[in-house]
Parts: sequence; C-alpha cells; structure tokens
Amino acid sequence: MSSRPDVDAVVVGSGPNGLVAAVTLAEAGWRVLVLEAADRPGGGLRTEELTLPGFRHDVCSTAHPLAMASPAFRALNLQRDGLRLAHSQLPLAHPLSRTESALLYRDVERTAADLGRDRAAWSSVVGGLARHWRSMVEGVLDPLALPPRAPLATAAFGAAGLWPTTAVNRIVLRDNPARALLAGLAAHASLDLAEPLTTGVGLLLGALAHAVGWPVAVGGSQAIADALVARLRAHGGEVVTGNRVDDVATLPSARAVLLDLTPRQVLDVAGHRLPPAYRRRLARWRYGSAAFKVDLALDGPLPWADERLASAATLHVVGSAAEAVHAEREVARGRHPERPYLIVSQACVADPSRAPEGKHTVWAYCHVPPGSTVDMTERIEAQIERFAPGWRERVLARHVMGPADLERHNPNYVGGDIAGGASDWRQLAARPVPSRTPWATPDPRLFLCSSSTLPGGGVHGMCGRLAAQTVLRRH
Ligand SMILES: Cc1cc2nc3c(=O)[nH]c(=O)nc-3n(C[C@H](O)[C@H](O)[C@H](O)COP(=O)(O)OP(=O)(O)OC[C@H]3O[C@@H](n4cnc5c(N)ncnc54)[C@H](O)[C@@H]3O)c2cc1C
Repeated sequence: MSSRPDVDAVVVGSGPNGLVAAVTLAEAGWRVLVLEAADRPGGGLRTEELTLPGFRHDVCSTAHPLAMASPAFRALNLQRDGLRLAHSQLPLAHPLSRTESALLYRDVERTAADLGRDRAAWSSVVGGLARHWRSMVEGVLDPLALPPRAPLATAAFGAAGLWPTTAVNRIVLRDNPARALLAGLAAHASLDLAEPLTTGVGLLLGALAHAVGWPVAVGGSQAIADALVARLRAHGGEVVTGNRVDDVATLPSARAVLLDLTPRQVLDVAGHRLPPAYRRRLARWRYGSAAFKVDLALDGPLPWADERLASAATLHVVGSAAEAVHAEREVARGRHPERPYLIVSQACVADPSRAPEGKHTVWAYCHVPPGSTVDMTERIEAQIERFAPGWRERVLARHVMGPADLERHNPNYVGGDIAGGASDWRQLAARPVPSRTPWATPDPRLFLCSSSTLPGGGVHGMCGRLAAQTVLRRH
C-alpha cells in the first residue's frame, strides 16, 4: 500500500507561471506547496523601493497587455482579490524626432489617421486582429491545442505574423511612423528584426494595445503576485519564500513537481531524474539577448519635447524604424549599439501611487549580448536626452542592473536573458523540446511550467496554466 504524499503538488519558483500553475491545481482541489528562493513571491512581478523610500519600482515587468488578454488571467479574474489595473490615455508612444511621434491610441482609426499612406494597412491588419483579439490570443497563447483554437483567426495572424519585420516594412508599409511603430513593437522579441515571426510579436502587442490597452497594476506589478498568492491561500495552498531548491530529491513527497525554471536550472536540480536523451536536448537550449536596465526616481515627469508623450505609460525610444532595426541587429551580432533601442516605462502616468506626490518612477532598458558586462547607462540616458532634453536635471536617484545583477535578482534570467531562452522560430517550435505536451518530461511526476515552455516569455500565466492542465489530465 502506498503512503499518502505530504502534498499533492510542489511548485518550485513563484513567478507568474509558477503561481498560475499553483492556483490552477489548488482550484482543482489539490494541496499545493510553492517554494521560492527569493524573500518575496512573484519572480518577474516584484516591486521594490530600488532608489529612495516611497519610490516603488517594478524590478521587471510593468506593462500588462498579455495579462489583460490571457485566458489564464481572465479565468482567474484577480480583480476579485483586490487587483486594480490602471490605463494611461495612450497605451504606447514612439518619438521619431523632437517634434514628430507615432502615437498608438486605444482607437484604431485615430491611430491610423496619423499614419499617412499606411492608414489603410494599419486599419485593416492591426485593426482586424484587434477586433478578433480573443480568437487571436487563444490561438497564439495555446498553439498546440487540438482541435486548434480559432483556426481562422490564427491563420490570419500567421499569414502576416510569420514574416520578418524588415520584409513587412520594405514591402507593405510605406512611411516611417507605421514602420517605426511596428519595429518598436516587434523588438520586444529581442531578436534581429530580419528573423521570421518578429512581425507576429509586433502585431500581437499592437493589436492588444487597441483591444485591451497596456495597463499597469496599481501599486506595482507585485499586486498581481499578491493577488495570486491570496487566491492560492484561499484554496489552502502555501508559499514558502527564502527556500531555494537545489535538488528535487529534497522536496516533500508529492504526486507532481512543477518547475518554474529554465532548462539549465532544470538540469541542475532534477537532471538525475531525467534520461540522457532528454538531458542532452535541454543542454542544447539557447539563451537569448540580455537586458540592461536603469531605474530612476525623478522629481517630476520626463520633459518630452513632444508634450503628447506625457500621456503614454510605455514608450519605444530609438528614433526611426531603421535605427530600431540597426540596434537590434547589432545586439544579435554580439555588439553593443551606440544608440540602443529602449523600452521606457513611466508608469506613474497611469498610477501616481508609485511615488510621492508630484514625483515619478521611470525605468528604461535596452538589449545587450548575453552575459554582457558593458555599462550601457550613458547610452540609455543619451537616447532619452534626444527626445526629452534636459531630463537629467530631474533625477533624484538611479539604480542600475546589468545582466549579472538581473540574474542575481532572479536565477531564471540566465546571462541576463529575461525571456527564459531565445524566442526565435526554432525555439518556439520546440520549447523546450519538440513535443505535443512540452510541459511534461519523461519523468511522469516532473513537469515544467516556466516561460521556457510554450507559449514563451511575458506575464500571461499560460505556461503555468497549460502545465497544470497537463498534470491534471495525467492524474
Ligand atoms: C526588466 C524586465 C522587464 C519586463 N517587462 C515586462 C513587461 O512589461 N510585461 C511582460 O509581460 N513581461 C515583462 N517581462 C518579462 C516577465 O517578467 C517574464 O516573462 C515572466 O516573469 C516569466 O515568468 P515565469 O513564471 O516563467 O518566471 P519568473 O517570473 O522568472 O519566476 C521564476 C521564479 O523562480 C524562482 N527560482 C529560480 N530558481 C529557483 C530555485 N532553485 N528554487 C526556488 N525558486 C527558484 C525565482 O526566484 C523566481 O521567483 C520583463 C522582464 C524583465 C526582467
């Protein structure tokens, strides 16, 4: 007779995927224990006073179009647990010069009206996907479902999304504003924009900006983790922080162990449970470009030359589409661009609660080659200066994180890669191995649930939900 396990499931790592997996199992009646190495749950959702007391900075994620749209988060409805999301008037802006900017409004037609000869293309392609966003998201975020979810919407998305951004900019779009918008959105993939599928990333994020916005969590992204933990506890689950797992052999007995870890860490903590062929596949996993991030406490908003930029919580700061393409190509070739592509978050525009009255928190990060030790602070700040002259006078304090600091903050950011592994087409086709159920491993009790599984990086919780559903199906 087998003895009763200590718990039904142990989840190692409390990022959004680990927590969504834990909640999904707990809601199905499982007794779940989450073990987290850091002092606070949340992984890429943590918010800390990185600079000065009273200034709350998202150490990692801030913009949540994926969480808004994700079937996993929509099913959980975390607003019930106190989560509040806040929108800026403009989801996104992209300065082109001190006087010209591409602005992405919630309204498709208002956005398209400023895009000159690309008005019709934006309106029909991005607008069309935005109109059918639920189907698009079901197909993209659950790509292996059988029968396929929303095949028509997925086919429409795939027809345009499979192309490299450079090709779409050359063949389809004609003017810089639309080309820059697409390139800035696609560069979230952290790839050379001549790679296939980069357009898909741009279209997904652009369509979601229209459909659901790019909101921030009131109080910081930590609020999303806190709501997930509250839901888990309400179902009897437990989260233990400050508990780094070095070997799954030391875990309490359980019917299933879910690892919110990337392949290199999976090999470290559970390699001895896995057959050689599977271990070899995980060992071949490629990590992608890294991030270099600057957090700022400011005594006022960024003084954008184009004042309309003050109403966007997120900006892509690089200049023209060609500059974005060049910057990302440099990184892909192992070089550090002089003028990097930046994602800038001025979350206080939507959520003033993150800083004392009148003050602001801002972050900016750029891509750098994996494991880079080059200090990009000056280059990041010079890029902002191009479009917000004199902004440095507003700096009260700054906090800088290179790839090694990011990995210290979160061991899943191997070499500073924040996406759990390169997200090129090869590693999306086999994430992390070619399989109909990439969340399962050859060990029937061991499962993977991090962003190194499908559908990949970002705060959408779908890796966790699909992993938990795989566990439930197999038990
Ligand atoms: C600077 C930055 C900005 C970003 N911006 C956005 C954004 O605006 N929007 C967006 O959607 N996404 C953004 N992301 C990406 C997003 O944060 C990640 O894709 C997401 O957090 C991945 O979730 P996860 O659950 O797979 O893993 P993670 O969130 O990385 O969580 C993994 C957890 O496992 C823990 N862990 C690791 N090893 C062990 C161990 N041995 N034992 C116990 N615990 C362990 C870690 O401490 C961590 O808490 C950003 C990331 C960064 C770094």
